[in-house]
Amino acid sequence: MAEMGLTPTDRWHLLGKHACHHAESTEFVETRTFDERALTHPEWGRLGVPSDVGSPNATWCRHCENTVDQLQSRRFNTIVDLKGLVPYRDVSWTKVECTGSCSWCGKADSATQYNDDLEVTVCPACAQKYNSPGTEVTDPPTTDRRLEMPTDDVDPIRHVTYRGTAKRPPDEPTSFESLEAARQRANEEQRPYIEVQIKGKYANVTCDIAGTGHRFTPAAIERIEALQAEQKEKAEADTDHKSSITAAIGPRGMHARMTTLFPDDAKQHADDLAVIATDPANWQ
Ligand SMILES: [Zn+2]
Ligand SMILES: [Zn+2]
Repeated sequence: MAEMGLTPTDRWHLLGKHACHHAESTEFVETRTFDERALTHPEWGRLGVPSDVGSPNATWCRHCENTVDQLQSRRFNTIVDLKGLVPYRDVSWTKVECTGSCSWCGKADSATQYNDDLEVTVCPACAQKYNSPGTEVTDPPTTDRRLEMPTDDVDPIRHVTYRGTAKRPPDEPTSFESLEAARQRANEEQRPYIEVQIKGKYANVTCDIAGTGHRFTPAAIERIEALQAEQKEKAEADTDHKSSITAAIGPRGMHARMTTLFPDDAKQHADDLAVIATDPANWQ
C-alpha cells in the first residue's frame, strides 16, 4: 500500500488517510509504504527520506512533517502515561493481522503488534517505542494501576456559567454548584466534564475526561477535530463573528477546548462533545 509519494519537485508527501492537502502536484514519480522506523535516524530520531530515489535535495513537505510529528508526540505521551500506570516492561509483541489504526499514535492501517499484558494492538513504531528506555518514567509502578473500563455510557457532568453581560435565560435551571465544585465532582466520580462559559457575545467550551482515568482514542480525537473544524468554518462564514477562534486538543488526549464561539453554537458543540465523551468506546 502506497503511503508516501515523491513529486517531480522533490517533495515527499503522505498519501492515503493522512494525505497532504498541500501537495503541489498530484503526480508522483515514486510511491512507497511509509516505513517510519526505517526512515528514522537511529541516533537522532530525525525522520529522513529514502536515499535511493529522487535527487539528493529531496525532503519531506513541511506539512507532512508536522503530521508525522503529531503522530510521534501522541505516541510519546500515550506511552509515558501508560508506563506510569503499568509495571510491564520489555514486553514481547506478537504480530497479528492488521486491526486498523494504531490505538496509540493513530497511524492508519498499521495496528499489527499485540501484547497480552497491555491488551493493545499498535503499530510497529509504537511497539518499539514502548520498550525504549527513552519513554521510562521516574517512578515505575509495581502493579497494574489502570482503572477498569466501564461497559456502559458514563453521564458527563455539565456546567454552564454566565459571566459579564451574559444572563442565564429564565427557563434554564441555575446550577447548584460552582464551576470548581463541578470540576472536582467529575474527578471524584470519574466522569467526563463538559463546561460552557458564556461571556457576553462569545462563549468557550471545555471537555475533559481526565477524571475518568482514561484518554480519548485517536479515532475519537479525529471526530473532535472534525467538530472543531465545522464550528470554526461556521463562525468564520458569519460576518457578525469578529473575533478569532481557537480550537485545541490537549497533548495528553484528555482535553478539548474551543474559544470564542457564539453561545448557541457553543452549546451545540458541547452537546456534540458530550456524545463522544460519554461513550467509553471512545476512551482508552
Ligand atoms: Zn505534504
Ligand atoms: Zn502507533
